[in-house]
Amino acid sequence: MAYISFQNVVKRFGDNVVLDHIQLDIEKGNLVTLLGPSGCGKSTLLRCLAGLEQVTEGTIILDGQDVTHVPASQRNIGMVFQQYSLFPNMTVEQNIGFGLKMQKMPKDEIADHVRRAVELVELKGKENQYPASLSGGQQQRVALARSIVTHPKVLLLDEPLSAIDAKLRKALQTRIREIHQELGLTTVFVTHDQDEAMVMSDVIELFHDGRIEQSGSPVSVYTNPVSTFAASFIGSYNQIPGGQFAALTGDAFDDACTVAIRPETITLTRRCPKNPDAYTLKGTVLGSTPRGNVLRYSIQVGQVKFHVDALFRSFHIFDPGETLYLSIPKHDCLCISDKEVHANAV
Ligand code: ADP
Ligand code: MG
Repeated sequence: MAYISFQNVVKRFGDNVVLDHIQLDIEKGNLVTLLGPSGCGKSTLLRCLAGLEQVTEGTIILDGQDVTHVPASQRNIGMVFQQYSLFPNMTVEQNIGFGLKMQKMPKDEIADHVRRAVELVELKGKENQYPASLSGGQQQRVALARSIVTHPKVLLLDEPLSAIDAKLRKALQTRIREIHQELGLTTVFVTHDQDEAMVMSDVIELFHDGRIEQSGSPVSVYTNPVSTFAASFIGSYNQIPGGQFAALTGDAFDDACTVAIRPETITLTRRCPKNPDAYTLKGTVLGSTPRGNVLRYSIQVGQVKFHVDALFRSFHIFDPGETLYLSIPKHDCLCISDKEVHANAV
């Protein structure tokens, strides 16, 4: 049996169904990310697992035990929130050791555990400082150390990096991933950021309106979205109604499906390419936006506007108004039908 199992979990606030029959298994030692837009129920699911919220229906199993009605304090779960929520009147060391002190662990053992946790989150030398003198990233490291020092069964991280600036955030993503691997700690991570989910996760659970729309490895979720929602949330797919794509390509596509194409799979050239395994479409450049190491072009083809990512090379930059050819490998054109996903979800 899975280490954590949500069985038909429903959570309602009044008439608002926030979790709609969640079935979710999490394997021991995995880092699983709940990914989805704001308000789709990610935090609520985490809070139900932590015991901070009672489920309306269903069962939660943790390590072979039904914990559905077990009080939060007896679940042995570590949790880190977006707000650092440290004790302002305690030093780094005291904050980290607080849980162990509550457990009445002898002082020298506490010192030992705290020292190791401080090393793990790379805060050596800061032990005697107060939270107010630390940066946001450092405070979040303290919160992380405080939640792992008690050796919890599960570590829950609810958007812990959302308030931290981009560069530090990347460093902390890597550190969390490394700590997870060093400790083999089963971890549930919540984010609304697809890039963060891709970097961090063994498994992504894509949430949509209180339901899990898709589960899988980052690569499988990225390359095989099961619905138009998944395709718009991960991978920034172009999405074209089947009938319109049929008209552009001359091939048969069912109008009930949506053709989804990732922007980086399309190649742009000034000369007409000849590739029998790709569709060739003629379009006009509308504009482009730099996005890291790629330029994202907006290109009008008949009635359809495509976005296409091209590597940022100076000899290869196209201007608005230019006529270009788009070469789209046929195997990169996915046909998605929402009907199947939503029929299966019921
Ligand atoms: P997410 O973490 O994905 O942004 P939440 O789980 O926080 O979403 O919230 C999901 C929905 O549940 C939202 O519509 C929110 O307003 C509602 N909700 C969350 N907590 C409460 C509460 N204590 N009382 C009433 N509604 C709540
Ligand atoms: Mg939330």
